[in-house]
Amino acid sequence: MTQSMKYERAIVIGGGMTGMLAAKVLSTFYVQVLIIEKDELPDSPENRHGTPQAFHPHRMLPLGKQIFERLFPGYTKELLEMGGFNTLHQTSRFITKNGELALTDTEETAVTRRAMLEWVLMQRMLREERVQFLEKHEAISLQFEEETNQVIGIQVKDRSVKPGIIHEMKADLVIDTSGRMSKLPKWLKSAGLTLPQTDELNVSLGYSTRYYQIPPEAPNLEPMVVVGQPDKRIPTGLFERVDQDLAAVLLSAAGGSHYPSTDADQFDLETAALTHPSIAEAITHLIPYTKPKGFRVPACVRNHYEQMEDWPSGLLVMGDALCTLDPIHGQGMTKAALEAHILERMLKQTQENKSFSFERNTLQQMQHANELGWWLCAIADMAWEGVELKGKPIPHLTFVQEFLNHYVQYTIQTKQPERLQAYHSMHSFLIEPRKIINLEQLQDMIQADVTGEIARWWQRWDQENDEFNRAFFHEAVPDFHLHQLLKSN
Ligand SMILES: Cc1cc2nc3c(=O)[nH]c(=O)nc-3n(C[C@H](O)[C@H](O)[C@H](O)COP(=O)(O)OP(=O)(O)OC[C@H]3O[C@@H](n4cnc5c(N)ncnc54)[C@H](O)[C@@H]3O)c2cc1C
Repeated sequence: MTQSMKYERAIVIGGGMTGMLAAKVLSTFYVQVLIIEKDELPDSPENRHGTPQAFHPHRMLPLGKQIFERLFPGYTKELLEMGGFNTLHQTSRFITKNGELALTDTEETAVTRRAMLEWVLMQRMLREERVQFLEKHEAISLQFEEETNQVIGIQVKDRSVKPGIIHEMKADLVIDTSGRMSKLPKWLKSAGLTLPQTDELNVSLGYSTRYYQIPPEAPNLEPMVVVGQPDKRIPTGLFERVDQDLAAVLLSAAGGSHYPSTDADQFDLETAALTHPSIAEAITHLIPYTKPKGFRVPACVRNHYEQMEDWPSGLLVMGDALCTLDPIHGQGMTKAALEAHILERMLKQTQENKSFSFERNTLQQMQHANELGWWLCAIADMAWEGVELKGKPIPHLTFVQEFLNHYVQYTIQTKQPERLQAYHSMHSFLIEPRKIINLEQLQDMIQADVTGEIARWWQRWDQENDEFNRAFFHEAVPDFHLHQLLKSN
């Protein structure tokens, strides 16, 4: 879509977190924004069929929070008023097989259930004059203008009646935010288009979550992560507050050789067998509230729609429908927020520069935004035996994995929480991996390591002079151009 771009009606397929972000951005550009959601809208913050992942705890990373706050001012405060748990001044423990470090949160962040995160946004969108929801309606295909490559709307099935009535709905722009089960590949193929090869990270990930009630007499229990040991197939364990009086324990393992149990007794045994007993100790103060429930992710998929020269005008895709990341890293909503930020910037640019190719440029920018999350997931998950990456390989993968393992141990052994914080900031897309993985950092680590282990490890990679070593680091650690992604115009 270029010169002829019209701003009458935009359709968003799916009313999940990405759908809400997209609709909010579109509402300042389009006269009418329709969110098509196949589920019935809940009348309280409840989990829905269409978002089965909502049972599991959803962490919002700081960058995601910043973007949500900008688009929905007062969001954090409202979540806190609705019972969210405030992490300001809260200390959380990061526990590895070689020791632990505590980090204290310096910002107000609301930890709450996924259903609540969505509910508060949904209530706000219901009050937006230009936004309407069409609940119990399922998008079933795209509509193209005859003989052209222009999407002019969608076909929807009204699910409130049986066997379902099919309608056509016209739009100037359609955005697919229907999540990981998106039918977009099928719709594009049936329009005669050839899809580029996807990147796939075959993670065979198993997740299991159980909730516990926090009785008033329970001591202050700090959130914690007990980092798993892929080489021994020991899962990662997470203990998180969720609202004022609920805590969640989550076990996760990749590679497919072991899926954390959903049997209550077995779940407790597996919690006790984590690298450190602190989560098992914490739950002795709590009352089981639910049974454990599982979620399996066979693969993370990254679509490369931006490579399609014949990508239809009038069509975009965002969120999990574009690219899924391993949920254990808690990046999905932040990635969606970053994409919404890009959508807003690209819509502004298109209004200013009419010859701009809006859809493909936007898809290319979103793809850049997903690059770092994809790289980090592949690096972390490929430490588990059985995980395979299909598609573009990661250069010097083993080196980066081993560097980061040494880095984490170094931050713990030298007790430098600010360096561990930098590691988390990288996983939150706030700082470039090159800020951590570089020659100067390596030298610091070698100097601090009295055992000489890091120096011996480096001998395997040392290119023998600084110039070649710098080139090697640059090749291993791409520049993700975060400052460009984060700028607003
Ligand atoms: C187990 C698990 C844990 C996670 N934990 C975290 C976390 O801690 N932090 C984090 O940031 N992210 C996490 N994520 C990822 C996060 O859930 C998603 O990335 C994020 O919610 C964005 O999802 P989405 O809106 O793109 O898709 P979804 O949440 O899947 O929403 C899609 C919506 O589209 C609707 N829909 C589907 N098809 C149609 C159709 N044809 N017509 C109309 N409507 C349709 C669905 O009903 C649904 O409402 C986790 C994911 C999983 C699986």
